[in-house]
Amino acid sequence: MSQPSNDASVRHPRVIALLNQKGGVGKTTSTVNIGAALAELGKRVCLVDMDPQGHLSLHLGLDGESVGDTVYELLLEPDVPLKQVVVKVRPDLDCIPSRVDLAAAEIELANDADRLKRLGAKFAPHMDEYDYILLDCPPSLGTLTLNALSMAQEVYVPMQAHFLAMQGFTKLLETVGEVCRNGVNIDLRVGGVILCMHEKQSTLVKEVVGELDAFFEENQGNPLLASFARVLRPAIRKNIKLAEAPSFGQTIFDYAPWCPGALDYRTLAERIIAQHEPGTSVDDPVDPSGDVELESKGSSEPEVEPEVEPEVEPEDRSEPASTEVAPGEVDPPVAAGTISVEPRTRSTEQTVTPKSKNPG
Ligand code: ATP
Ligand code: MG
Repeated sequence: MSQPSNDASVRHPRVIALLNQKGGVGKTTSTVNIGAALAELGKRVCLVDMDPQGHLSLHLGLDGESVGDTVYELLLEPDVPLKQVVVKVRPDLDCIPSRVDLAAAEIELANDADRLKRLGAKFAPHMDEYDYILLDCPPSLGTLTLNALSMAQEVYVPMQAHFLAMQGFTKLLETVGEVCRNGVNIDLRVGGVILCMHEKQSTLVKEVVGELDAFFEENQGNPLLASFARVLRPAIRKNIKLAEAPSFGQTIFDYAPWCPGALDYRTLAERIIAQHEPGTSVDDPVDPSGDVELESKGSSEPEVEPEVEPEVEPEDRSEPASTEVAPGEVDPPVAAGTISVEPRTRSTEQTVTPKSKNPG
Protein backbone atom coordinates (compact mmCIF):
# COMPACT_ATOMS: atom_id res chain seq x y z
CA MET A 1 0.00 0.00 0.00
CA SER A 2 1.30 3.45 -0.86
CA GLN A 3 2.22 5.99 1.80
CA PRO A 4 0.26 9.21 2.27
CA SER A 5 1.71 12.26 0.55
CA ASN A 6 3.90 14.48 2.73
CA ASP A 7 2.45 17.61 1.16
CA ALA A 8 0.94 19.56 4.06
CA SER A 9 -1.39 21.51 1.76
CA VAL A 10 -3.20 18.34 0.76
CA ARG A 11 -6.11 17.49 3.01
CA HIS A 12 -6.25 13.80 3.63
CA PRO A 13 -8.19 12.18 2.37
CA ARG A 14 -9.79 14.13 -0.47
CA VAL A 15 -13.47 13.25 -0.30
CA ILE A 16 -15.19 13.72 -3.64
CA ALA A 17 -18.89 13.25 -4.40
CA LEU A 18 -19.84 12.55 -8.01
CA LEU A 19 -23.23 14.13 -8.35
CA ASN A 20 -25.80 14.98 -10.96
CA GLN A 21 -29.52 14.82 -10.38
CA LYS A 22 -29.93 13.73 -13.96
CA GLY A 23 -29.71 9.98 -14.51
CA GLY A 24 -27.42 8.12 -16.88
CA VAL A 25 -24.83 10.86 -17.33
CA GLY A 26 -21.72 8.90 -16.33
CA LYS A 27 -21.52 9.26 -12.53
CA THR A 28 -20.89 5.59 -11.81
CA THR A 29 -18.60 5.02 -14.80
CA SER A 30 -16.53 8.01 -13.72
CA THR A 31 -16.41 6.99 -10.04
CA VAL A 32 -15.22 3.47 -10.86
CA ASN A 33 -12.65 4.44 -13.47
CA ILE A 34 -11.25 7.57 -11.83
CA GLY A 35 -11.00 5.54 -8.61
CA ALA A 36 -9.25 2.66 -10.36
CA ALA A 37 -6.88 5.07 -12.11
CA LEU A 38 -6.03 6.81 -8.84
CA ALA A 39 -5.29 3.43 -7.26
CA GLU A 40 -3.06 2.47 -10.21
CA LEU A 41 -1.25 5.77 -9.66
CA GLY A 42 -0.44 4.65 -6.11
CA LYS A 43 -3.21 6.41 -4.19
CA ARG A 44 -5.19 4.60 -1.53
CA VAL A 45 -8.80 4.78 -2.66
CA CYS A 46 -12.20 3.90 -1.25
CA LEU A 47 -15.28 3.95 -3.48
CA VAL A 48 -18.69 4.15 -1.83
CA ASP A 49 -21.82 3.03 -3.64
CA MET A 50 -24.50 5.40 -2.34
CA ASP A 51 -26.98 4.32 -5.00
CA PRO A 52 -29.51 1.55 -4.24
CA GLN A 53 -29.22 0.53 -7.90
CA GLY A 54 -25.84 -0.94 -6.85
CA HIS A 55 -24.29 -0.25 -10.25
CA LEU A 56 -20.90 0.72 -8.85
CA SER A 57 -20.75 -2.55 -6.92
CA LEU A 58 -21.70 -4.58 -9.99
CA HIS A 59 -19.16 -2.69 -12.09
CA LEU A 60 -16.47 -3.85 -9.69
CA GLY A 61 -17.68 -7.45 -9.78
CA LEU A 62 -19.59 -7.30 -6.49
CA ASP A 63 -23.03 -8.83 -6.46
CA GLY A 64 -25.04 -7.01 -3.79
CA GLU A 65 -26.80 -10.24 -2.81
CA SER A 66 -23.59 -12.06 -1.88
CA VAL A 67 -21.35 -9.39 -0.37
CA GLY A 68 -22.61 -9.39 3.21
CA ASP A 69 -23.04 -6.05 4.91
CA THR A 70 -23.35 -2.97 2.75
CA VAL A 71 -23.95 0.78 2.95
CA TYR A 72 -27.43 -0.03 4.30
CA GLU A 73 -26.09 -1.70 7.43
CA LEU A 74 -23.40 0.95 7.76
CA LEU A 75 -26.00 3.73 7.87
CA LEU A 76 -28.72 1.94 9.80
CA GLU A 77 -26.89 -0.16 12.38
CA PRO A 78 -24.83 1.75 14.93
CA ASP A 79 -22.77 -1.34 15.81
CA VAL A 80 -21.58 -2.03 12.25
CA PRO A 81 -18.15 -0.44 11.81
CA LEU A 82 -16.68 0.65 8.49
CA LYS A 83 -14.26 -2.27 8.37
CA GLN A 84 -17.16 -4.69 8.37
CA VAL A 85 -18.50 -3.41 5.05
CA VAL A 86 -15.25 -2.69 3.19
CA VAL A 87 -14.42 -5.03 0.33
CA LYS A 88 -10.93 -4.97 -1.13
CA VAL A 89 -11.52 -5.08 -4.89
CA ARG A 90 -8.05 -4.34 -6.31
CA PRO A 91 -4.68 -3.32 -4.87
CA ASP A 92 -5.20 0.04 -3.11
CA LEU A 93 -8.86 0.04 -4.14
CA ASP A 94 -11.60 -0.62 -1.58
CA CYS A 95 -15.33 -0.56 -2.16
CA ILE A 96 -18.30 -0.22 0.14
CA PRO A 97 -21.04 -1.91 -1.85
CA SER A 98 -24.78 -1.40 -1.83
CA ARG A 99 -27.83 -3.26 -2.96
CA VAL A 100 -31.46 -2.47 -3.54
CA ASP A 101 -32.43 -2.47 0.16
CA LEU A 102 -30.54 0.81 0.51
CA ALA A 103 -33.61 2.51 -0.98
CA ALA A 104 -35.43 1.83 2.30
CA ALA A 105 -32.81 3.80 4.22
CA GLU A 106 -34.31 7.04 2.92
CA ILE A 107 -37.53 6.26 4.82
CA GLU A 108 -36.03 4.48 7.80
CA LEU A 109 -33.71 7.38 8.59
CA ALA A 110 -36.37 10.03 8.01
CA ASN A 111 -36.86 10.95 11.66
CA ASP A 112 -33.29 10.64 12.91
CA ALA A 113 -31.67 13.94 13.79
CA ASP A 114 -28.23 12.73 12.74
CA ARG A 115 -29.41 11.09 9.52
CA LEU A 116 -27.33 13.24 7.19
CA LYS A 117 -24.08 12.65 9.11
CA ARG A 118 -24.16 8.89 9.48
CA LEU A 119 -21.70 8.10 6.70
CA GLY A 120 -19.18 10.70 7.83
CA ALA A 121 -19.37 9.48 11.42
CA LYS A 122 -18.56 5.92 10.37
CA PHE A 123 -15.63 7.08 8.24
CA ALA A 124 -14.24 9.44 10.88
CA PRO A 125 -11.93 6.95 12.64
CA HIS A 126 -10.58 5.70 9.29
CA MET A 127 -9.82 8.86 7.33
CA ASP A 128 -6.05 8.33 7.57
CA GLU A 129 -6.35 5.04 5.75
CA TYR A 130 -7.22 6.65 2.40
CA ASP A 131 -5.94 9.33 0.05
CA TYR A 132 -9.21 9.54 -1.89
CA ILE A 133 -12.78 8.64 -0.99
CA LEU A 134 -15.12 8.79 -3.99
CA LEU A 135 -18.85 8.77 -3.38
CA ASP A 136 -21.11 7.61 -6.23
CA CYS A 137 -24.42 9.41 -5.67
CA PRO A 138 -27.83 8.31 -6.91
CA PRO A 139 -29.65 10.57 -9.38
CA SER A 140 -31.73 12.19 -6.64
CA LEU A 141 -31.22 14.48 -3.68
CA GLY A 142 -32.52 12.51 -0.72
CA THR A 143 -30.90 11.36 2.51
CA LEU A 144 -28.34 9.16 0.73
CA THR A 145 -26.98 11.93 -1.46
CA LEU A 146 -27.01 14.36 1.46
CA ASN A 147 -24.97 11.89 3.54
CA ALA A 148 -22.41 11.97 0.75
CA LEU A 149 -22.50 15.76 0.48
CA SER A 150 -22.18 16.21 4.23
CA MET A 151 -18.81 14.40 4.29
CA ALA A 152 -17.43 15.51 0.91
CA GLN A 153 -15.09 18.44 0.34
CA GLU A 154 -15.59 18.54 -3.42
CA VAL A 155 -18.40 17.82 -5.83
CA TYR A 156 -17.62 16.77 -9.39
CA VAL A 157 -20.43 16.93 -11.89
CA PRO A 158 -20.34 14.31 -14.64
CA MET A 159 -22.50 15.51 -17.51
CA GLN A 160 -22.97 15.45 -21.22
CA ALA A 161 -22.56 18.65 -23.16
CA HIS A 162 -26.14 18.67 -24.36
CA PHE A 163 -29.03 21.06 -24.56
CA LEU A 164 -29.92 22.32 -21.05
CA ALA A 165 -26.57 21.18 -19.60
CA MET A 166 -25.90 24.68 -18.33
CA GLN A 167 -29.30 24.87 -16.62
CA GLY A 168 -28.68 21.49 -14.97
CA PHE A 169 -25.31 22.66 -13.74
CA THR A 170 -26.73 25.90 -12.34
CA LYS A 171 -29.38 23.93 -10.45
CA LEU A 172 -26.70 21.72 -9.02
CA LEU A 173 -24.74 24.73 -7.87
CA GLU A 174 -27.88 25.96 -6.10
CA THR A 175 -28.10 22.61 -4.33
CA VAL A 176 -24.50 22.91 -3.15
CA GLY A 177 -25.37 26.42 -1.98
CA GLU A 178 -28.29 25.09 0.05
CA VAL A 179 -26.13 22.39 1.59
CA CYS A 180 -23.66 25.08 2.66
CA ARG A 181 -26.31 27.56 3.86
CA ASN A 182 -28.17 24.99 5.90
CA GLY A 183 -25.07 23.95 7.76
CA VAL A 184 -25.06 20.40 6.40
CA ASN A 185 -21.53 21.07 5.12
CA ILE A 186 -20.31 24.65 5.00
CA ASP A 187 -17.03 23.61 3.36
CA LEU A 188 -18.52 21.90 0.31
CA ARG A 189 -17.25 23.23 -3.04
CA VAL A 190 -17.78 22.30 -6.66
CA GLY A 191 -14.47 21.02 -8.02
CA GLY A 192 -15.47 20.82 -11.66
CA VAL A 193 -17.41 19.31 -14.50
CA ILE A 194 -16.48 16.00 -16.10
CA LEU A 195 -17.64 15.76 -19.70
CA CYS A 196 -18.83 12.21 -20.32
CA MET A 197 -19.78 10.32 -23.49
CA HIS A 198 -18.22 13.21 -25.34
CA GLU A 199 -18.61 13.65 -29.08
CA LYS A 200 -16.70 16.75 -29.94
CA GLN A 201 -17.72 16.91 -33.58
CA SER A 202 -21.09 18.49 -32.94
CA THR A 203 -21.49 22.26 -33.07
CA LEU A 204 -23.94 22.14 -30.16
CA VAL A 205 -21.39 20.30 -28.02
CA LYS A 206 -18.75 22.92 -28.80
CA GLU A 207 -21.17 25.69 -27.87
CA VAL A 208 -22.18 24.05 -24.60
CA VAL A 209 -18.56 23.41 -23.59
CA GLY A 210 -17.76 27.03 -24.43
CA GLU A 211 -20.66 28.15 -22.25
CA LEU A 212 -19.46 26.00 -19.34
CA ASP A 213 -15.87 27.22 -19.73
CA ALA A 214 -17.08 30.82 -19.74
CA PHE A 215 -19.11 30.20 -16.59
CA PHE A 216 -16.04 29.04 -14.65
CA GLU A 217 -13.96 31.87 -16.05
CA GLU A 218 -16.55 34.49 -15.06
CA ASN A 219 -17.24 32.97 -11.64
CA GLN A 220 -13.72 32.77 -10.31
CA GLY A 221 -13.94 33.68 -6.64
CA ASN A 222 -17.49 32.33 -6.30
CA PRO A 223 -17.44 30.83 -2.79
CA LEU A 224 -19.25 27.71 -3.99
CA LEU A 225 -16.48 26.89 -6.47
CA ALA A 226 -13.08 25.48 -5.53
CA SER A 227 -10.20 27.71 -6.60
CA PHE A 228 -9.25 25.11 -9.23
CA ALA A 229 -12.82 24.51 -10.45
CA ARG A 230 -13.17 24.16 -14.20
CA VAL A 231 -14.41 21.92 -16.95
CA LEU A 232 -11.91 19.12 -16.57
CA ARG A 233 -9.86 17.88 -19.47
CA PRO A 234 -9.73 15.55 -21.13
CA ALA A 235 -13.40 15.05 -21.86
CA ILE A 236 -14.24 11.35 -21.68
CA ARG A 237 -14.93 10.26 -25.22
CA LYS A 238 -17.92 8.11 -26.03
CA ASN A 239 -16.36 4.68 -26.09
CA ILE A 240 -18.16 1.35 -26.36
CA LYS A 241 -15.53 -0.33 -24.15
CA LEU A 242 -16.64 1.84 -21.22
CA ALA A 243 -20.19 0.56 -21.69
CA GLU A 244 -19.06 -3.07 -22.00
CA ALA A 245 -16.69 -3.27 -19.01
CA PRO A 246 -19.39 -3.28 -16.26
CA SER A 247 -20.98 -6.47 -17.54
CA PHE A 248 -17.67 -8.25 -16.88
CA GLY A 249 -17.34 -6.73 -13.41
CA GLN A 250 -14.23 -4.96 -14.63
CA THR A 251 -12.85 -1.46 -14.59
CA ILE A 252 -11.76 -0.09 -17.95
CA PHE A 253 -8.15 -0.77 -16.92
CA ASP A 254 -8.94 -4.47 -16.41
CA TYR A 255 -11.00 -4.73 -19.57
CA ALA A 256 -9.29 -2.63 -22.24
CA PRO A 257 -6.43 -0.69 -20.66
CA TRP A 258 -5.39 1.18 -23.82
CA CYS A 259 -8.76 2.02 -25.29
CA PRO A 260 -9.72 5.71 -25.61
CA GLY A 261 -11.86 5.52 -22.46
CA ALA A 262 -8.95 4.18 -20.40
CA LEU A 263 -6.59 6.84 -21.75
CA ASP A 264 -9.10 9.56 -20.94
CA TYR A 265 -9.81 8.40 -17.40
CA ARG A 266 -6.12 7.82 -16.66
CA THR A 267 -5.20 11.33 -17.79
CA LEU A 268 -8.15 12.80 -15.91
CA ALA A 269 -7.04 11.08 -12.70
CA GLU A 270 -3.53 12.53 -13.16
CA ARG A 271 -5.07 15.99 -13.53
CA ILE A 272 -7.21 15.52 -10.41
CA ILE A 273 -4.12 14.60 -8.42
CA ALA A 274 -2.29 17.60 -9.87
CA GLN A 275 -4.99 20.01 -8.61
CA HIS A 276 -3.77 19.52 -5.05
CA GLU A 277 -0.10 18.83 -5.58
CA PRO A 278 1.98 21.95 -6.20
CA GLY A 279 4.58 21.70 -8.91
CA THR A 280 2.37 19.68 -11.22
CA SER A 281 0.42 21.52 -13.87
CA VAL A 282 -3.27 21.08 -14.51
CA ASP A 283 -3.13 23.15 -17.66
CA ASP A 284 -3.18 21.27 -20.88
CA PRO A 285 -3.56 21.79 -24.58
CA VAL A 286 -7.31 21.92 -24.97
CA ASP A 287 -9.57 22.96 -27.75
CA PRO A 288 -13.02 24.39 -27.07
CA SER A 289 -14.68 21.05 -27.72
CA GLY A 290 -13.13 19.60 -24.59
CA ASP A 291 -10.60 17.47 -26.40
CA VAL A 292 -7.00 17.11 -25.33
CA GLU A 293 -4.04 15.67 -27.14
CA LEU A 294 -3.14 12.29 -25.75
CA GLU A 295 -0.05 10.24 -26.23
CA SER A 296 -0.71 6.84 -27.67
CA LYS A 297 1.20 5.12 -24.80
CA GLY A 298 1.58 1.96 -26.82
CA SER A 299 -2.09 1.64 -27.57
CA SER A 300 -2.88 -0.96 -30.14
CA GLU A 301 -6.32 0.55 -30.58
CA PRO A 302 -7.19 3.70 -32.46
CA GLU A 303 -7.42 6.72 -30.18
CA VAL A 304 -10.29 8.17 -32.10
CA GLU A 305 -12.92 5.57 -31.92
CA PRO A 306 -14.84 4.65 -35.03
CA GLU A 307 -18.45 5.74 -34.98
CA VAL A 308 -20.02 2.85 -33.11
CA GLU A 309 -23.01 3.29 -30.90
CA PRO A 310 -22.70 1.77 -27.41
CA GLU A 311 -24.76 -1.36 -26.99
CA VAL A 312 -25.93 -0.05 -23.66
CA GLU A 313 -27.39 3.25 -24.60
CA PRO A 314 -27.24 5.78 -21.82
CA GLU A 315 -30.69 6.72 -20.71
CA ASP A 316 -32.11 10.03 -19.73
CA ARG A 317 -33.93 8.46 -16.87
CA SER A 318 -34.77 10.87 -14.18
CA GLU A 319 -36.15 14.27 -13.71
CA PRO A 320 -34.22 16.46 -11.32
CA ALA A 321 -35.57 15.75 -7.85
CA SER A 322 -36.15 18.33 -5.20
CA THR A 323 -33.66 18.58 -2.39
CA GLU A 324 -34.52 17.37 1.06
CA VAL A 325 -32.84 20.33 2.71
CA ALA A 326 -35.61 22.77 3.39
CA PRO A 327 -34.48 26.37 3.63
CA GLY A 328 -33.60 27.09 7.21
CA GLU A 329 -33.34 23.45 8.19
CA VAL A 330 -30.14 22.84 10.07
CA ASP A 331 -29.22 19.43 11.25
CA PRO A 332 -27.43 19.35 14.58
CA PRO A 333 -23.76 18.68 13.96
CA VAL A 334 -22.64 15.19 14.83
CA ALA A 335 -19.22 14.94 16.37
CA ALA A 336 -16.94 12.43 14.79
CA GLY A 337 -17.10 9.17 16.63
CA THR A 338 -20.37 9.73 18.51
CA ILE A 339 -21.71 6.57 16.95
CA SER A 340 -20.12 3.70 18.81
CA VAL A 341 -17.69 1.75 16.73
CA GLU A 342 -17.40 -1.82 17.88
CA PRO A 343 -14.39 -3.97 17.19
CA ARG A 344 -14.70 -6.20 14.16
CA THR A 345 -17.16 -8.98 14.77
CA ARG A 346 -16.12 -11.15 11.86
CA SER A 347 -13.51 -11.43 9.21
CA THR A 348 -14.22 -8.38 7.12
CA GLU A 349 -11.75 -7.81 4.33
CA GLN A 350 -13.03 -9.70 1.37
CA THR A 351 -10.91 -9.62 -1.71
CA VAL A 352 -12.44 -9.63 -5.13
CA THR A 353 -10.48 -10.07 -8.29
CA PRO A 354 -11.75 -9.17 -11.72
CA LYS A 355 -13.46 -11.88 -13.71
CA SER A 356 -11.06 -13.46 -16.11
CA LYS A 357 -13.12 -12.95 -19.24
CA ASN A 358 -11.37 -10.29 -21.24
CA PRO A 359 -11.87 -9.70 -24.89
CA GLY A 360 -8.51 -8.31 -25.56
P1 ATP B 1 -27.49 6.71 -12.85
O1 ATP B 1 -27.99 8.11 -12.74
O2 ATP B 1 -28.54 5.73 -13.25
O3 ATP B 1 -26.73 6.30 -11.63
P2 ATP B 1 -24.97 7.32 -14.04
O4 ATP B 1 -25.00 8.79 -14.09
O5 ATP B 1 -24.23 6.68 -12.95
O6 ATP B 1 -26.45 6.72 -14.08
P3 ATP B 1 -23.54 5.56 -15.77
O7 ATP B 1 -24.23 4.36 -15.23
O8 ATP B 1 -22.14 5.78 -15.40
O9 ATP B 1 -24.42 6.85 -15.46
O10 ATP B 1 -23.61 5.59 -17.36
C1 ATP B 1 -24.84 5.42 -18.04
C2 ATP B 1 -24.62 4.45 -19.22
O11 ATP B 1 -23.72 5.04 -20.13
C3 ATP B 1 -24.01 3.14 -18.79
O12 ATP B 1 -24.55 2.13 -19.57
C4 ATP B 1 -22.52 3.32 -19.11
O13 ATP B 1 -21.88 2.09 -19.38
C5 ATP B 1 -22.58 4.21 -20.35
N1 ATP B 1 -21.42 5.08 -20.48
C6 ATP B 1 -20.89 5.89 -19.53
N2 ATP B 1 -19.85 6.57 -20.01
C7 ATP B 1 -19.69 6.19 -21.30
C8 ATP B 1 -18.79 6.57 -22.36
N3 ATP B 1 -17.84 7.47 -22.18
N4 ATP B 1 -18.95 5.96 -23.56
C9 ATP B 1 -19.94 5.07 -23.76
N5 ATP B 1 -20.82 4.69 -22.82
C10 ATP B 1 -20.71 5.23 -21.60
MG1 MG C 1 -24.91 5.58 -11.32
